Parts: sequence; C-alpha cells; structure tokens
Amino acid sequence: MTSQSPYPHLLSPLNLGFTELRNRVLMGSMHTGLEDRFWNLHKLARYFAERAEGGVGLMVTGGFSPNMVGQLAPLASTMNNALTARLHRHVTGEVHDAGGKICLQLLHAGRYSYHPFSVSASAIKAPISPFKPRALSTRGVERQIQDFVDAAVYARKAGYDGVEVMGSEGYFINQFLCARTNKRKDKWGGPFEQRMQLPVEIVSRIRKAVGPEFILIYRLSMADLVEDGQSWDEVLMLGKAIEQAGATLINTGIGWHEARVPTIVTSVPRGAFTGVTAKFRNEVNIPVVTTNRINDPDTAETILARGDADMVSMARPLLADPEFVRKAEDNRADEINTCIACNQACLDHVFQAKRASCLVNPRACHETELNPTVVSIQRRVAVVGAGPAGLAAATTAARRGHRVTLYEADDRIGGQFNYAKRIPGKEEFAETLRYFQRQIELLGIELKLNTRVDADSLADAGYDDVVIATGVRPRTPEVEGIDHPKVLGYLDVLKHNKSVGKSVAIMGAGGIGFDVGEFLTHDFSHLPEGEQMPIDEWQKEWGVDSSWESPGALTEPQPAPSPREVYLLQRKTSKPGKGLGKTTGWVHRVALRNKNVQMIPGVSYKKIDDQGLHIEIQTKEGTESRVLEVDNVVVCTGQLPLRELADDLESRGIKAHLIGGADVAAELDAKRAIKQGTEVAAEL
Ligand code: FAD
Ligand code: NAP
Ligand code: SF4
Repeated sequence: MTSQSPYPHLLSPLNLGFTELRNRVLMGSMHTGLEDRFWNLHKLARYFAERAEGGVGLMVTGGFSPNMVGQLAPLASTMNNALTARLHRHVTGEVHDAGGKICLQLLHAGRYSYHPFSVSASAIKAPISPFKPRALSTRGVERQIQDFVDAAVYARKAGYDGVEVMGSEGYFINQFLCARTNKRKDKWGGPFEQRMQLPVEIVSRIRKAVGPEFILIYRLSMADLVEDGQSWDEVLMLGKAIEQAGATLINTGIGWHEARVPTIVTSVPRGAFTGVTAKFRNEVNIPVVTTNRINDPDTAETILARGDADMVSMARPLLADPEFVRKAEDNRADEINTCIACNQACLDHVFQAKRASCLVNPRACHETELNPTVVSIQRRVAVVGAGPAGLAAATTAARRGHRVTLYEADDRIGGQFNYAKRIPGKEEFAETLRYFQRQIELLGIELKLNTRVDADSLADAGYDDVVIATGVRPRTPEVEGIDHPKVLGYLDVLKHNKSVGKSVAIMGAGGIGFDVGEFLTHDFSHLPEGEQMPIDEWQKEWGVDSSWESPGALTEPQPAPSPREVYLLQRKTSKPGKGLGKTTGWVHRVALRNKNVQMIPGVSYKKIDDQGLHIEIQTKEGTESRVLEVDNVVVCTGQLPLRELADDLESRGIKAHLIGGADVAAELDAKRAIKQGTEVAAEL
C-alpha cells in the first residue's frame, strides 16, 4: 500500500505467516438466518461473495454449533457431519473465486440455547432464556471439546480458511470462565486457572487436528460487563494461554448478552471499546482484532494508526454496504452507505427468527432476489418527497437508468430523518442523508428543493411514472385544551426549536415519545450539534470501568442529571416501550429511567389548562385522578398519512405509486419506507 492510500493502516496487508490477508478489515460474525437451512446456502454464498468482491480482508460466518445441544435454537446451524461440510463447499468456493478468505465460526450456545436440551458448566438458568441448562459431567465436557475439534476439521474439509472459536458474549465457553456460571467442583471448575482450561484445550486440540496452516481465531471476552465477570488479570492469563495454545488471531468480545450495558446500539459512541483491545495488545505477540461500533474508514484508520489493534472487525457495516472496503480504497468513503447501528433489520430480525437484512440496504441477505435491472427504455419518473422512502425510490430508479426528478417541499432532503438525527445517541442517522445526497449527485437526479409540488404541475409535466412519498403528518388527539399555549407538537420541539420548560409531560410513548424523552433529558449544550457523546462521558453514564481492571469492567453508573422533570404517558396499560426494537428497547427504557423519567401507562387524558395536564390513571387498585403541573405538554401520539396529492392525481386520471408513510402511516418506520421505495422503483 503506497503512502498515497487514503487509509494506509486499514488497507495494508497482514501477514499471518502461512497466509496473507489483503487488508485489516475482518467482517465479524453475524447470524443472518441463511445458515440454518441447507437450501439457503446458495444465498449465503452470494451474500459472502459480494462482500469478498467488495474487498474485505477476512470474513467470519455466523455461528455454527459443533453439536446439537449447543445449537442456538432447534434445527439451527450446525457443522457436525461430512454432508454439511460438502454442502458448504459452495459457499467457500464462491468466496475464493471472488478473491476472499472466510472462516467458520464455532459457537456453542451453552445456557443461551433456546431449547430444553441445553448444557452448561452448572445448572444455572440465563435471565434471557426460559430453559435451565443441564450441568455437564466431566466426561460430558470432554465430549464437547471433541465436538469442537471435529467441527473444525469439517470446516477445513468444507474449504474454509479457518475457524473462529466463540469464547465471548456469555456463550458456553464464557460460562465456564466465570464464577457466576461455573460452580463446578471437578477439574473444569474451581480457581480461574482451571476454569480457563476449557478454551485452552479446545484451541490446542483444534490446532493439533488441523495443522499449522489454518487460521484459528479465538474471540476472547475482554470485558464481560456482568457482575462476577472476569478480572483484568484473568483476561490476560487466558489471552496468553490461548496464544500458547496455537491461536492465529485474538478477536475482542465485549459484553454478555445478558449485560445491562449497551455494546453495539447507535447510542454507543464509535470505537467505545477499542481501549480494552489496546491494553490487551501490549501483552501478547499475535495480532489482535478490535471491534464494536466501528462503522467508517476514518474511525478504523485512527484506531489502527493509534496502535489499538492489528485489525478491525466490522459486521453490520458490511451488511449496510458490501463495497465498503472498495470505496475506501478508491477514496470514495463519502459514497459508503453507513450502518446507523439501529439493529432494526439485522439483529431484531434474527431475534424474531426472521432472515436478517439491513434498514439502509434492503438487498442485504437478499442478493439473489432483489436485483433491480438496468432498463432498455428510459422513463421519466417524478418522485414527490425526499424522505427515506422517496430517496430510496429515486436512487433505485436512477440507478436502473430512468430519468428522475425528485421534489422536496423542505430546503433539504431527509424528511423525518432530519429530526431523528437530532436525538441524543441517534447522530448516526445523518450518515444516511449524506449517503443519499451523494448518490443524488452521482446519479444525476434532478433535485428540486423548496418545491411543494401539486397535481396540476405533475400532470402538466407528463411524467411516465409518479411516485408519492409525501410521508405523514402528526396526529392531534381530541383532548380539551389541546390548543393551549403550553401544548407543543414534536415538530415544534425537534424542527422549530421552540423552548421547552423545566417540567414536561409527553403524551404518547411510542418510538417518537421515547426519542423526545431522550432529547429533553440530555444536556448536550457543551457539544457541537451532531457530535456523539464523548467516550469517557458515555462510560460514566453506563458504569463501564475505563481502566478495564474491575471484574467484568463494571463500575457504578453515574448518569448526568436531567435538565428537566419528564413524564412519559400512554393510554395502554402495558409496559411503556414494549413496542420498541427487540434488541434496543431495553436501552431506551433504562436510559430514561436513569434520567428519572416517570413512565405512566393506563392514562386517560382529561384536559389541559394553565394548571397542567389533567389525567386519570387506571391501576390494579382502581382509577386515580392527577394533575401533572407541567410547563409544557409535548404531543407524540402517532401519525397520519399525507396523501392528498395521490387523490388529486387520481381525479386527473393519473395513477401514482404510493410508498412510505404516504401509503400506510400505522407502524411506519424507515425500514419499511426504504424497502418499499426500493422495491417499487425496482419494478418501474
Ligand atoms: P417522511 O420522512 O415524512 O418524508 C416525507 C417528505 O415528503 C418530507 O421531506 C416532506 O417535506 C415531503 N413532502 C410532503 N409533501 C410534499 C409535496 N407535496 N411536495 C414535495 N415534498 C413533499 N424510523 C426508524 O425506522 N427508526 C428510527 O429510529 C426512527 N426514529 C425516528 C425519530 C424521530 C424523532 C422521528 C420523527 C421519526 C423517526 N423514525 C424512525 C421514523 C422515520 O423517520 C419515518 O418512518 C420515515 O422518515 C418515513 O419516511 P417517508 O419517506 O415515508 O416520510
Ligand atoms: P407510535 O409508535 O405508533 O406511537 C404512538 C403513541 O401515541 C403510542 O404511545 C400510542 O399509544 C399513542 N396514541 C395513538 N393514538 C393516540 C390518540 N388518539 N390519543 C392519544 N394517544 C395516542 O408512533 P410514533 O411514536 O409517532 O412513531 C412513528 C413511527 O416511527 C413508529 O411506528 C416507529 O416505528 C418509528 N420510530 C421508531 C423508532 C425506533 O427507535 N425504532 C424511534 C422513533 C420512531 P396509546 O394509544 O397507548 O397511548
Ligand atoms: Fe446497521 Fe441498522 Fe442495517 Fe443493522 S439494520 S446493518 S444496524 S443500518
């Protein structure tokens, strides 16, 4: 790599002795749902091949269990026989043809297995699984080790360049390492020197079985983020032993799945955990990989240039953009479709047993299915509204060769994403708008800002296709006093910057109600607009020990006080925030609880007057009347479609395509808006 390279550290090769990686990008393991059924392996092959074509240095598959008891769920991905190995040759073949390298991850879920046959070091149920595991006998442990070794041998037969042994995130191996889950009295329990023998034996026996020229990555939990987690001395002792046992690379693992510290969601600042890898790297002689919330080449380059690690692992960023590395190489980083760490289409799908994809890239994991073709006959297409739906439709149509005009009433593109990106911890959403803005320029889309287009002008222009992506308008609930001066809409707060008093009641505890809660309880005045919370402040907020020395790397959380007293209300009697993302909802709930937000379900809104918001609360004991004496009431009670334009067009005999909020406002999110915009434009 020449010194002219925009990212000299990130893009320099890494020599592993017997093989060389073309750059320092490792695509971290991600379960996609395509691993679980053999008939989906050709889809998995294309998915990885596109990332290999995009220049990734080394890829790791989703987790494959070495046996049935270690499966994540019944019939989930396993590598334990010759037939499976043979079927996987299709995956490895396509990756190698595309110039890539790929390792298979060996993941034994232990007590995180979602089935009644789970096993672990001790019979201690995980808080995130309904099934209590069976404690393995001493011989049972031996059998698990042998299964790991056999699986690695099958992986080699399948053509993989190596394996990654999953030793972190609270899975089986991690369960043996920590006293909180290992109460054994035999040689696999007791003092740490004995508890760590399980991974050491697995690594050394795999090395013996596969020979020296096979990549062996060990994913080591450097910060468990749970009580009674490993201390720093234990992490180091294990790391050195794993190096001795024959690992080629040590990858960083952060946090058990049951940890109550967020590790990958969008509110975690970029590179928040590389400090622990840096500390570890000083102590071993093999290359180490750092991970978590690294989603752009500049952050990755800074981390490597600082010497924190030898490689960076990025998983979701390569779902979002398979060409991430190629774009970085070509100095086109501004064209990268950046992962915004929302989890909405990837992890949330996996936890609902649905195939993963990506909110900003609906083609992810659908590479063989969603392939918009280049057209032979160009059409003139008008897209009205430059929110996520309209942006996806306009860029997809233009990429196919259509001539596209994009109308936007506002002075900027982005629609509601312009308000989402103002929420503390959602600054990443600005990246999606940067990506689309650049695509508009590259694709030659005619963008007409400040243009609230009407049916007459669209009809006069004689477009071949009109796509209506005009979005939504906020719903105004029918409550006495809703026009009182102390009542604000969420747009008054997030768009028009109206001042908000010291005490506030938020009506509506959906996604926007929670976000407005975050906005009102954080004081970001010391930071430039759009900047993420500094890592040290974030560590304090969530109780992460910045020295990484304490057991589990935990300290007492010290959330900054809220500048306001906030109530978050909903009519339903269910737990507020129940409908938020499967893997992110808990973070929002804990974050607001840390700011002393009072969440009240079962509310009837009676009236709003000078005194405040009058409500009745339905509880198990009966109905309680209360007046919340607040300075302001902020209305976040859902949205209605804005689709008058479609009706006007129809009356002129023009049938438009409706997408996003303009189509259906209920349960609208950007995932649906972008997917629908892409799919509709793929058919024009
Ligand atoms: P919109 O984003 O509403 O865009 C419609 C656009 O059309 C607007 O720019 C409007 O100005 C323009 N327009 C309207 N009429 C005309 C006209 N006649 N001529 C020209 N232009 C017109 N979703 C998620 O998935 N995840 C999140 O974390 C998330 N967070 C959010 C946080 C906040 C604070 C808010 C407000 C929303 C959030 N959303 C989130 C919701 C998400 O932003 C919306 O689902 C998405 O923006 C809908 O896209 P859309 O293109 O249908 O509509
Ligand atoms: P929402 O999630 O549907 O929530 C609307 C809230 O208003 C609910 O609390 C609802 O619950 C209440 N409500 C509905 N009708 C009402 C009425 N007539 N009177 C009083 N209260 C009423 O909608 P949203 O918060 O506006 O969010 C819009 C979309 O953006 C959501 O669908 C969401 O997917 C997306 N979004 C997602 C995120 C995210 O983090 N993933 C963040 C922000 C937004 P009750 O009826 O029980 O009061
Ligand atoms: Fe990233 Fe969200 Fe896409 Fe997942 S769905 S890869 S978190 S942008």
